[in-house]
Amino acid sequence: MEIKEILVEGKTKKLYTVKEQNQLVMEFLNTLKGDSKQKDTLKGKGAINTEISAFMFEYLASYNVPTHYIRKLDEKSLLVKKLDMIPIRLVIWNIATGNLAKRIGFKDGTILETPVLELYLKNTKLRNPFINDYHAYTLGLCDRNEMDVIIRIGSKVNAVLKSFFARKKLSLAYFSLEFGRYENQIMLGDEISPDTFSIWEVTEDGKLNKKTFEMTPATARTVLPKLKDIILM
Ligand code: ADP
Repeated sequence: MEIKEILVEGKTKKLYTVKEQNQLVMEFLNTLKGDSKQKDTLKGKGAINTEISAFMFEYLASYNVPTHYIRKLDEKSLLVKKLDMIPIRLVIWNIATGNLAKRIGFKDGTILETPVLELYLKNTKLRNPFINDYHAYTLGLCDRNEMDVIIRIGSKVNAVLKSFFARKKLSLAYFSLEFGRYENQIMLGDEISPDTFSIWEVTEDGKLNKKTFEMTPATARTVLPKLKDIILM
């Protein structure tokens, strides 16, 4: 695939334009996600996330979830539809942990009766604030119909992926999704990888262990390949 020019250089991915105006090449970098200003990298990380993302998008497509994924190009890149991105991150929680547990006063690790869906504005300057649908409308990010579609797709992805992981004795604690428009249709964009989801182990006695697959710059080297093997098995 002939690359024309770089369109976006994100923290963990680069997007390139190609001859076909409505397509992009998404390249996964070896940069690790983290709060520190200094960029930690891990050799092979981009390739693992490419493989997991491709697998996830194909799996979701088999359940008729509309996504930007076209095909895997090589070890570290995917060919995707070029979306008009909606600058919102939809976060779906099945287990109360981290900042959600603190905010609503739930014990860390509480399984939620119903999933909690949250919206965050993608704006680094404002430190990606927590917003609701009214903020999204007043900011002109999307309209009510589009929001309904985002919520519907997000809930379906949750149902599909939750049972996918449950069959592997894993629990989908929380994950985030991004959406965009393509020819008047809302579809799933970005990536679905250990950078965007948190997986907890379900132990023999049915308990949850959040440490087993916890991704930090220090654990990524061992956790990432293990997670890849289980997911793609
Ligand atoms: P961050 O999202 O933290 O800036 P990334 O490295 O993930 O870092 O950046 C990837 C960028 O590409 C994001 O801005 C995302 O919204 C955008 N993006 C993802 N999928 C598409 C797509 N299909 N078309 C256009 N932009 C996309």
